[in-house]
Amino acid sequence: MIRSMKILVINAGSSSLKYQVFNMEDESVLCKGACERIGIADSFMKHKLPDGRSKEYREDMHDHGDAIRLVFRALTDPEVGVVKHMDEIGAVGHRVLHGGEKFTASTLVDEKVKAAIREVIPLGPLHNPANLAGIEACEEAMPGVPQVAVFDTAFHQTMPPRAFMYALPYEYYTDHMVRRYGFHGSSHRYVSAEAARVCGREGDPEFKVVTCHLGNGSSFAAVKGGKCIDTSMGITPLEGIPMGTRSGSLDPAILEYLMGRTGMDIHEMTNVLNKKSGMLGLSGKSSDFRDLEKGQEEGDFRCALAREVFVYQGRKLIASYAAAMGGVDCVVFTAGVGENDGDVRQRMVEGLDFMGIAIDPQRNNVRSKLAELSPEGAKVKVWMIPTDEELVIARDTEALVEGKSI
Ligand code: AMP
Repeated sequence: MIRSMKILVINAGSSSLKYQVFNMEDESVLCKGACERIGIADSFMKHKLPDGRSKEYREDMHDHGDAIRLVFRALTDPEVGVVKHMDEIGAVGHRVLHGGEKFTASTLVDEKVKAAIREVIPLGPLHNPANLAGIEACEEAMPGVPQVAVFDTAFHQTMPPRAFMYALPYEYYTDHMVRRYGFHGSSHRYVSAEAARVCGREGDPEFKVVTCHLGNGSSFAAVKGGKCIDTSMGITPLEGIPMGTRSGSLDPAILEYLMGRTGMDIHEMTNVLNKKSGMLGLSGKSSDFRDLEKGQEEGDFRCALAREVFVYQGRKLIASYAAAMGGVDCVVFTAGVGENDGDVRQRMVEGLDFMGIAIDPQRNNVRSKLAELSPEGAKVKVWMIPTDEELVIARDTEALVEGKSI
């Protein structure tokens, strides 16, 4: 029995690496931090403790191996560390962006798993190499310690072909892996399970939830009986609702048209779609919903427009997922915007009362804590459920290390 296991959770991005250490005895977070600007000049790491203490390490990190070694130093730092020796860490859980079609659940890492993650690098060219680098750096620095990969795509693998196929020549699916995969899987899985719990419908195959993960990246999922049947992100996280800087879905003919008119090549065009569009592109000001709200209050019509496009597209997704499931019992809001921006929540369900979906303005005056938002006695429940992707990773890691199924 390893109930007192401490688990390190790693979320490696292309130039960043976030980490948390969990004490699985009570699932408390012992510390968290982030390495920034890995492989770029002036890299640094910030390490934080739950009591508010923190320490910044300003050191060169040339690669993810350097970053992991610095994390280990902080974890054992006599001043702000959380373990005496690294062997107190029982296992490491890694967030991995893309699992392609191979992974329908989290898995213990071995050479075969690493090869499979490598195989789908073309589908996640920025993240998967970073995720692999994080895994390999841990293997090197703590040999023999079990590592678990938790895929952002895994939860969505229950989607039926009618939801995941694009209407392109079929060979692009069989020969080039072109299909919808979906992302934010750990978050949709966590909040949909929480929704079943708070609604007293755990294990009910007919319980239908629409989960709205609204953050810097945003995605929706239709979850029936705990299984994802549709989601809004696609082969990459670019599809779906417009996001902080991503365009979301658009007419694909725009690409050729705009490239012809502006002289942009495909890389520049893709960069615009990923980094300069969405709320930032529409508002011309910011990708952050706090800035957009302030801009709107000050009379900036483009900030107002950006928020209007966002809530309108979201509203259509909620309604279409209810249609996909033949009904809806619960709508969940989560992530940075979903947990903090009551105005966005309220407006996203505006006009959906014909489907029984509504938010009580009084109850909606809440931030970052589990709360029911629908009016007393409503048929369709609306909940705000703070997400915790790191906890999902830690729980899966513990379960797999203990030989339990997840
Ligand atoms: P996430 O990607 O889930 O970390 O969400 C980050 C985003 O949440 C930020 O870019 C903001 O747009 C949004 N956000 C965070 N705090 C607030 C807030 N108090 N009000 C409105 N939006 C917020």
